[in-house]
Amino acid sequence: MKNGICPRCHSANVYSSEKLRTETGNASSIPLSFFRSISLDNYVCANCGYVESYVSEPEMLSRIQDIWPQVNPPPEKRPERPHKTTL
Ligand SMILES: [Zn+2]
Repeated sequence: MKNGICPRCHSANVYSSEKLRTETGNASSIPLSFFRSISLDNYVCANCGYVESYVSEPEMLSRIQDIWPQVNPPPEKRPERPHKTTL
């Protein structure tokens, strides 16, 4: 999405709030904790309406890792046994 191409519909009609945030300080945000929030840059596809959000301050990513619980992926599936054919 950051490359200007919508991953859903592959349109190049993508707009970003990043410049507005740096110029005006206005940003959407999500709560990090009771005391702090994380500002986001939104990327919107004006063709299909798909939205992607990115944490705008890279240093907040380590704060998130400190505070939020990690989402654990499911245990890896066992590789299937190769199907033996008896000739
Ligand atoms: Zn799209």
